[in-house]
Amino acid sequence: MSRRYKILALIGDGIAEEIVPEAIKVLKVAEKTYGFNLEILGPYGFGAKYWVTHGMEMGCDPAVTEELIFEADGIFKGPVGLPEWIGKLPGPNLPVNLRPDLDVYANIRPCRLRPGVDSVLVGRQAGDIDYIVLRENTEQMYVGAGGFVSRAMETEIGLDVFVQTRKGCERVIKYGFELAQTGEYKGKRGAPADGKSRLTCCGKWGRCRGDELFKETYKEVAEEYPDVETDYAWIDAWSYWAIMKPDFYDVAVMPNQYGDIMSDMSGAIQGSMGLAGSLNAGDDHCYAEATHGSAPDIAGEGIANPTSIILSVGMMLNWIGDKRDDARLKAAYRGIDTAIDTVLTEGKIRTPDLKGINSTTQFGNAVAEIINTQNESNPFLSSP
Ligand code: NAD
Repeated sequence: MSRRYKILALIGDGIAEEIVPEAIKVLKVAEKTYGFNLEILGPYGFGAKYWVTHGMEMGCDPAVTEELIFEADGIFKGPVGLPEWIGKLPGPNLPVNLRPDLDVYANIRPCRLRPGVDSVLVGRQAGDIDYIVLRENTEQMYVGAGGFVSRAMETEIGLDVFVQTRKGCERVIKYGFELAQTGEYKGKRGAPADGKSRLTCCGKWGRCRGDELFKETYKEVAEEYPDVETDYAWIDAWSYWAIMKPDFYDVAVMPNQYGDIMSDMSGAIQGSMGLAGSLNAGDDHCYAEATHGSAPDIAGEGIANPTSIILSVGMMLNWIGDKRDDARLKAAYRGIDTAIDTVLTEGKIRTPDLKGINSTTQFGNAVAEIINTQNESNPFLSSP
């Protein structure tokens, strides 16, 4: 009897209600095609809407316990937050603060121009852009150190303290070198321009001391990876070069807030935020979520592109496959990735962000149907 993987599904706000069911649909068909066993718990409600519709008493379904979060093999969640409620809700949404408590220090955010998607950059074709923004996920802006200082009932100071540690820098930089070495989560290993495995170190050294430490740590770690080309870019310049010569980049590692901003820019570079998958990965836990937010401007219309969350749950399967040494989950990730490319290439079903007229559900159905037809070529079906 093969192992049963426990997957915790959380909904969230805005378009989360529309895209999370598509991710579950895809997981269920992948489970059947690739012959593994998932126990999908949920999807449970959490987030701003949950607070508001439950008398402001709780931020998530009571079934989502701390114990469940820690024992899950993988978690995925829809985006959370509604602009009108920012700063007005009584407490945290979940019993634990996922990023620091699960210590998911590497936020992997691929940026790939896929077949059938028009580039916003003139003349770029599918395959020309295929890099990863690797965002440090527990330090700098995410340390959460700071506060407000008031005088005479007026808030006078808003203070944020960015902290970066040698351990925090070292482990995400190593993760970056390994991603560049393996080509994991990319269409193809190496930078599209020259095929070289390359890790670009981004920061604002010369100005920010935490980034000096980031760069110095990068130099030390680089010695362990002679087969990966080193590269340095001030983060402001990188936001220019990523647009001017995106094909030069393979993996770019950066402190937290830079990664937040550069991955949204990369959403545009790959054609839509709705294509931007993302995985929060640590040594013991992972959770998947799209790069984007709850998209209140289109929520409720049933037109959000679910690719972002579908790719994210695929990445989650890949991470679990590595952790549990289960090739079926890794094959399922590749199958999901290929299915997305097939639907985009055919171009018959596409959501409005990609100039189409189809719904979130129609796109999810199309991806699921392709995964269903991957049966004959799937070498893992006969596995116990
Ligand atoms: P957003 O990422 O939600 O939206 C930016 C733009 O991208 C919008 O035009 C939106 O329509 C579009 N977009 C996003 N996802 C899409 C999809 N799947 N398909 C098609 N188009 C898509 O950013 P925002 O509007 O600044 O933020 C809205 C809310 O989301 C805020 O409350 C913010 O705090 C929250 N947020 C949550 C997360 C998260 O939960 N991880 C991340 C970012 C923002």
